Formats: sequence, C-alpha cells, structure tokens
Amino acid sequence: MVEKASQLPDSAESTTVVVIGAGPAGLTVATLLRRSGIDCVVLESRSRDHVAQRQRAGIVETRAVRMFDSWGLSDRVLGGVPYDGILEFRVDGRSRLVSDSDGSEGPAARLCPQQVLVQKLTGTYLEDVGDLRFEAADVSLHDLSGDRPTVRYRTADGTPRAITCDFVAGCDGDHGVSRTAVPEGELTAYAFDHGIGWLTVLADAPPPAHPLLAVSRQGFAAHFPRGPHSSRYYLQCPPDDDPGAWSEDRVWDALRTRLGDPGLVSGPITDREVFRLRSLVHEPMQYGRLFLVGDAAHIVSPMGGKGMNLALYDADVFARAVRAFGRGDDSALSAYSARCLRRVWNDQEFSHWLTRTLHDAGDAEPFLRNLARARLDRLFTSRAASEAFAEMMTGLDPTGDASQEVPGNLSGVGGD
Ligand SMILES: Cc1cc2nc3c(=O)[nH]c(=O)nc-3n(C[C@H](O)[C@H](O)[C@H](O)COP(=O)(O)OP(=O)(O)OC[C@H]3O[C@@H](n4cnc5c(N)ncnc54)[C@H](O)[C@@H]3O)c2cc1C
Repeated sequence: MVEKASQLPDSAESTTVVVIGAGPAGLTVATLLRRSGIDCVVLESRSRDHVAQRQRAGIVETRAVRMFDSWGLSDRVLGGVPYDGILEFRVDGRSRLVSDSDGSEGPAARLCPQQVLVQKLTGTYLEDVGDLRFEAADVSLHDLSGDRPTVRYRTADGTPRAITCDFVAGCDGDHGVSRTAVPEGELTAYAFDHGIGWLTVLADAPPPAHPLLAVSRQGFAAHFPRGPHSSRYYLQCPPDDDPGAWSEDRVWDALRTRLGDPGLVSGPITDREVFRLRSLVHEPMQYGRLFLVGDAAHIVSPMGGKGMNLALYDADVFARAVRAFGRGDDSALSAYSARCLRRVWNDQEFSHWLTRTLHDAGDAEPFLRNLARARLDRLFTSRAASEAFAEMMTGLDPTGDASQEVPGNLSGVGGD
C-alpha cells in the first residue's frame, strides 16, 4: 500500500489537507478549514445524491450545536427544529419523561437528521468555493510518515490523479481506506460485540411527541422523529436475523406491543435493515501525517446517539489543531489523538451503560433484569442521577471540550 511519491505523476496537485470522505466528519473538517482560510480537497467515493440521501442519526447534541455556533455556522449548517430536551422512557407501557437538558445558557440540541446536516454542510462548503470531488475511485495513501504525504485516486472517467499535502484527514468511516493504509501493528483495536441485533425501520409515519425508548419483556423498541412526517423505529432482534422475515404487519404488531401503544399509527416502510450492536475504538487516532476522524477511528453502538456527535467533535478538534499549526504551534496536533480518545471512551461508557440497562431491563435473566430496573428507577427518582444523564446527553461533560474555546481570529473567512 505504501508507495513512494517518486512513482507518482509529475502533475501532482498540492494542498494543505486532503480530506477523505464526505460524511459528517469530512464535511465538517472541510467547512471549518475553509472558514479558517486553509486549503483542502475532499475526495468522496460515492455520488453527491447518494451521500445526501444516507439516513442515520437524528439529533445534533447541544455541545455540537454550540460548536457550530462558535464558528458562526449554526444557521447555515443546522436544519431541523430545536429539541425540547425531553426523552420518554416507557417501561412496560408506563411513561416516564426525563429531561436531557442541563439548563445551561446557549443554544440547545436540534432534531436535525444526518442527511439534512450533510446536505447543508455540502451546500455551505461549495458556496464557500470549497473543492469537493465526488466519485473518486481507488483512493490510496502514500508517504504518511514523511512531511508531504500523497493521496492518489481516479476520477469518474478513470483519469489518475495525485495530490500532495501537509496532512490527510481520514474521514471515510469504518469501511474506508485511510485506516487500512496504516502499517500493521501501529494501531490497537478495542472491539466489543453486544450480542444484540436491531431491526431498524424507516417509515412515512407520524413522529413521536418525544424521542421514545421502550422496555418490555418482549424486548427493546424505540421510536424517533426523522422529519415532520417520518420516523425511525428500532426493534431488538437476534443479531443475525433476516430483515425479510419482518413483514410490515409483523413490524407494526411488534412495535404496538413493545411500545405499549395499540393505537400506534403505521405508514409505508421505506427502508429496513438488521445490524449488530457493536463498539470499536482504534488507538491512536493518528499515524504520521494521517489523522483518523469519526467512524474511521471509532464505532459506538447507537444507544445514546453519540456516533455522529463524536465525529463532529473530532472534526472540530482537528480543524482547530491545523489552524494552530499554521500559526507555528504543533502542540494541538500532537495532542489530537489523546484528546479525542478521552471523549470517545467517555461516550462509549455512556452508550454501553444505556445499552445494557435498556436491554437487560427487558428480557435478561431475572437477577440482571432487576439490577437494570433499579438503575432505571434511580434515573427517574434521583436528581443527581438525572443530572448526570443530562450532562452525558448534552455532551457538555468536562472531558476536554474543544467547543468551549473561541476559534479566535477567523482570518480569511469566506473570502479567499
Ligand atoms: C442505522 C444507524 C443509526 C445511527 N444512529 C445514530 C444516532 O442516532 N446518533 C448518532 O450520533 N449517530 C448515529 N449513527 C452513527 C452515525 O451515522 C455515524 O457515526 C456517522 O455517520 C459517522 O460519520 P463519519 O463522517 O465519520 O462517517 P460516514 O458517515 O460513514 O462517512 C464516511 C464517508 O466516506 C466515504 N468513503 C468511504 N470509503 C471511501 C473511500 N475509499 N474513498 C473516499 N470516500 C470514501 C463514504 O461514502 C462516506 O460518505 C447511526 C448509524 C447507523 C448505521
């Protein structure tokens, strides 16, 4: 995989940062660098339409909203509606409302579906005359341990291209090429399989009043808003279950039972898949001039809604570190991996805790079920427990929060 730059075409372009992948992480890195007047090129293997339609996360947490706000970008990149900070837990059909707002001053979380964020980030970056190249094939990384790495790829018509740069931001998710370009033995992978599957269903059906998490002896279920007339649902199932075995009737019957809502309004199902709940962290998040950002470095199980928000955090830390490097200070780049990993493990712990609690409280063996129900009860009755929960949900916990820092002089903003 690692080839010498001398084998590359003479016509290699040059930039400061090559960003690989135009998901939430890559587009945020590129937009923040552009705001800072730093050159970059984004290479995305899929088409613009494909990237713009990919539906996954639904909430941009409070910390991330304030991060965009601190860059003067929240009005441009965040769609959706403000979120009232109320989460509904339904235990055997009994509703308990928990606030995940910490009462602090400043803009709060937004119900902003991931595809809306991606569409708006793409539009903002292109309006700012950013360089974004879709359908880039055969992307490969070279000379990562030197001062001027090179990224090679082929355009949609097959033309080979090469770009030399100061840094590569590997934002190409868990199945991308960036991480695989790191020589074996340089990274350590910490993986955990929860042994749980979720059937996830998107439907044109009314969203719930509040994001809803339901515990029952039939298994976990959830109902989240994804738009004014659309919803995402989750149903616990065996990890290797066949989504084809879930007919529309079976999906709606299971949801009505587990959500304790016989009157749940159904609608056409637009997408369904089964995935395993797993967690994965690669350490360190850097090799030479390559910095791994977002899912390329870590996967967090969806419970708690942290995956996309962690990607946004990494992107912010990386962009600020490159800005500082431009001013002659490389300390933030040196600290990038340690700083991000601190938050990653904090969010992994929260997601793991919530995953275990909500699944064990349903169908685990009696001892574990009672422990999990005691934990839930504490969340509903103890002020300290609910405040700790809110702190984790907002993302405003004290784990080295880049968004607390003001970006400073945004020289070159939108102008160059
Ligand atoms: C069903 C589901 C539900 C989820 N729900 C939530 C939630 O509620 N809350 C939450 O916060 N998170 C959630 N997540 C996680 C969230 O979607 C991810 O954490 C987020 O997408 C990570 O962003 P990213 O930019 O790091 O990676 P991705 O979104 O994976 O983006 C990577 C980009 O790189 C591109 N790419 C890949 N390989 C290459 C290559 N070789 N060359 C060039 N480009 C390449 C891809 O096409 C893609 O555009 C969910 C995930 C799933 C699957």
